[in-house]
Amino acid sequence: SKADGRGKLKVFEPDMLLARQMRNQMVGELKEAIAGSQLVLYYQPIIRLDTREIEGVEALVRWNHPTRGIIMPDEFIPIAEETGMISDLGGWVLRTAVEQLKKWRSDPLTAGHDFSMRINVSAADLQRLEFIEDVREALASAGLDPSLLVLELTESAVIQGNDLDRYTLNSLRRLGVGLEIDDFGTGYSSISYLRQLPVDTVKVDRTLLSALGSDPAQPALLAAVLQLIRACGLAAVWEGIESAEQADYLLSIGCTSGQGYYFSRPLPEPQLTEQLKHYKTW
Ligand code: C2E
Ligand code: CA
Ligand code: CA
Ligand code: CA
Repeated sequence: SKADGRGKLKVFEPDMLLARQMRNQMVGELKEAIAGSQLVLYYQPIIRLDTREIEGVEALVRWNHPTRGIIMPDEFIPIAEETGMISDLGGWVLRTAVEQLKKWRSDPLTAGHDFSMRINVSAADLQRLEFIEDVREALASAGLDPSLLVLELTESAVIQGNDLDRYTLNSLRRLGVGLEIDDFGTGYSSISYLRQLPVDTVKVDRTLLSALGSDPAQPALLAAVLQLIRACGLAAVWEGIESAEQADYLLSIGCTSGQGYYFSRPLPEPQLTEQLKHYKTW
């Protein structure tokens, strides 16, 4: 029966044991993946909505698991964060992305495009003083101007942040890299923080755009969000653009940059390189 505590235990315990075993196995495998070469970066173009030129790419990590195939970041980034492996993972992402941008900028077949590299930075990175040095070193060894790198930080990470976070952000700012608030509009949004944080751009979460077309209030809301961001002296990037209608609407309210499946899914490096070689616009 339901009230039978012992009956419940019998059903529940093996499940928990299994879950724990699977997690332990994953932790071990992820460690190997970071040390070996099982991580891979996909790149999603960020597009200038008026000219349809590429103005940036966002590096998105995947785990190419030897038996399971491609594993998406939502499945392993939280584990990397909980186990402290995120700084090794983040270091690899940083160096790989910056080196890749250098390759695109120095290959005559792709150098005609002028775009920045954007990487996702974990809250834990802002807690490490060495992170500032890692960023400086990666840029210096690739010989890239710091303004070509934009760090995407989640709203919750910067807003719940402490003094060390603030120190790190200001140091990165002085270094000349771009700082962007990611996932804007998903819960922690506060106008005063937008004014206080040393950031240049705000990426609006795709949930705001996905309601366009179904919710009659949404067009006015999106326009208001854009005005709010601009009033704070910041630039807006829209993510999750999946249709021509969405792209057109954003352009009509004066939004100039965005990304989404409508333009391109995140692509493995060889595929994006081919596109860069053959197409001027998206
Ligand atoms: P995010 O930074 O918000 O990245 C955007 C996510 O939306 C990506 O999922 C991307 O593939 C997806 N996306 C892009 N365009 C569209 C669209 O038009 N429609 C829909 N439905 N989705 C779209 P992905 O690659 O699975 O990444 C998930 C999250 O994992 C990222 O969210 C980011 O928070 C995290 N992540 C990815 N790579 C890294 C990394 O290198 N380091 C860290 N710390 N986190 C990462
Ligand atoms: Ca992002
Ligand atoms: Ca986002
Ligand atoms: Ca996200």
